[in-house]
Amino acid sequence: MKLVLLGKPLSGKGTQAALLSRALDIPVLSFGALFRREVEKKSVLGKNVEEYMKKGKLVPNRFTFPLLQKYLPKKDFILDGFPRNLAQAKALEKMCSIDFVIDVHCSNRLIQKRIMARRSCPKCGKIYGLDVQPLTKGICACGARLIQRKDDTKAIVKKRLAVYTKQSAPLIAYYKHKKIYLQVSGEKNRYSLGKTILKKIS
Ligand code: AMP
Repeated sequence: MKLVLLGKPLSGKGTQAALLSRALDIPVLSFGALFRREVEKKSVLGKNVEEYMKKGKLVPNRFTFPLLQKYLPKKDFILDGFPRNLAQAKALEKMCSIDFVIDVHCSNRLIQKRIMARRSCPKCGKIYGLDVQPLTKGICACGARLIQRKDDTKAIVKKRLAVYTKQSAPLIAYYKHKKIYLQVSGEKNRYSLGKTILKKIS
């Protein structure tokens, strides 16, 4: 199955991508995670994309398209955070046909509340937030120290939301027209939302 997860920053699409990946045994390709790894490694690509990410802007397509060619799995996949504009949607369409586009919808009010609570594990990838908190503050269940994303600040999230509205939101009409669009509420508990999505796509 080929799935795309759309949604505002902090809507919970990364969390759902991980849950669906486990339930369906399908790999996730997250462009945000890919770029963060490159920044961490201080690679040439990392240096090129860092400034855009810090400002909450989209990384230009000249950097994203080669990664899509290189990393998009041939058979099944869950794309987390790609496409984020119409040019990316068209590039993806040339490579394969998507089964479902799942839009994890969340109000800006809840997103504001989630900003300061999100932590992620650099070792196992688990994401914690308002709904699921670690047993020991700052420590993942796997034992690693949790980190907060550098772009999870009020000012950068404000910018990321504006970018979403301008560049990514038009994808909703685009995929509705193709009749592969499903909207779900990202305000639900993460596990019941996971079950709802599985039911809808099965
Ligand atoms: P995310 O982890 O999906 O919230 O993405 C974090 C940041 O990575 C975004 O704010 C962008 O700067 C960059 N990014 C992730 N996915 C894309 C994409 N498909 N196109 C351009 N930039 C992206």
